[in-house]
Amino acid sequence: MPPSLPALDRAHHLHPFTDFKALGEEGSRVITHAEGVYIHDAEGHRLLDGMAGLWCVNLGYGRRELVDAAAEQMLQLPYYNTFFKTTHPPAVGLAEKLCRLAPAHMNHVFFTGSGSEANDTVLRMVRRYWALRGKPWKQWVIGRENGYHGSTLAGMSLGGMALMHEQGGPGVPCITHVRQPYWFGEGRDQSPEAFGHACAAAIEERILALGEENVAAFIAEPVQGAGGAIMPPASYWPAVKAVLARYDILLVVDEVICGFGRLGEWFGSVLYDLAPDLMPIAKGLSSGYLPIGGVLVGDRVADTLIEEGGEFFHGFTYSGHPVCAAVALRNLEIMEEEGVVERVRDDLGPYLARRWSELADHPLVGEARSLGLMGALELVDPTTGGRFDRALAVGTLCRDISFACGLVMRSVGDTMIISPPLVITHEQIDELVSLAREALDETA
Ligand code: PLP
Repeated sequence: MPPSLPALDRAHHLHPFTDFKALGEEGSRVITHAEGVYIHDAEGHRLLDGMAGLWCVNLGYGRRELVDAAAEQMLQLPYYNTFFKTTHPPAVGLAEKLCRLAPAHMNHVFFTGSGSEANDTVLRMVRRYWALRGKPWKQWVIGRENGYHGSTLAGMSLGGMALMHEQGGPGVPCITHVRQPYWFGEGRDQSPEAFGHACAAAIEERILALGEENVAAFIAEPVQGAGGAIMPPASYWPAVKAVLARYDILLVVDEVICGFGRLGEWFGSVLYDLAPDLMPIAKGLSSGYLPIGGVLVGDRVADTLIEEGGEFFHGFTYSGHPVCAAVALRNLEIMEEEGVVERVRDDLGPYLARRWSELADHPLVGEARSLGLMGALELVDPTTGGRFDRALAVGTLCRDISFACGLVMRSVGDTMIISPPLVITHEQIDELVSLAREALDETA
């Protein structure tokens, strides 16, 4: 008997974010094919993909137009770089399209291969910007506890994931983290409004402690994704904007998850009216069909880099890769043609909000929240109404049970997350909610 795929996989494949020993004999689930919002595994199960892969397959699986765009571009020009005074039509077309979709003051984009590379690029740009402005001492970047900005050394350091810091240290110097606006987890002793203000005040306190002249940038996701689909209280972003406006500090808004319609606008920055200086993007940019990311750059930073910077010694072999760019461009065109973002805003988001919130009546659920097509359930101990002991790993259990029920949900501690493809239908949302309820029932 030849070894099974999971056995071969376990023998040779080091997976991201995986406890290899804990995989056991069974190994990993083998996903073989997919269509629409469904994935299929090697054992013949069909699962509703409530996570759009890894928050990225926004147009759903099996889109022929994206496959054709890739095939045509591969024949035309499978690779060329964008270094040293060269470019190609897909990179130009995508850059133009992105700048048209982005807030009006963002007229340039730097391409990368991923969201992590985008955040490395952010750090290089922030430092370069302040050096060119004659303030090289402005080095500190403030991020947030439990924020996620990727897995490279810079991404890991900008993010505020304690477990990553423990394994990845020492990280990049001059990065510090402030409290996250996670009302359910950390702020229920006050109103959401007061808690939002308190979190913004914590940023100001940190700025003053570091010395306002030393702080270069603040980085945050509009809504924390990997941290647990954490929608900040309504008071948070206006208060943060007011704090940053008092000091000369760049705002970096990480749109890797929130960008491209997830929250019912093209960017979370539009929803919250953030006018960022830099916007890292990836994932939904190509609906995950091929790897591509980038940084949208506001005029303030771009003008300085262009007018005063000379050559920027930074870039990746695959910056603006022609096939990835062609697919991303086609992806954005389809999103426009089909009105995907507007549908999330006006129809699917409100429908999910109504159906998802019904799960709040379940004894295991302390809060059911959603925004656009991102949602979370906070699991609580039905006997006390409080959080479970972390050692019980109830979230992991619920995730595994939901898989067995036919729904991909993700668990972050005891927070269950969904972020389905943006092309999901009402009937499929109904199915998702009833599978989630089944998983909760079986976990209880
Ligand atoms: N930024 C955010 C907000 C993310 O959620 C992620 C990935 O989940 C990243 C950056 C890193 O992107 P990548 O995994 O493409 O490097």
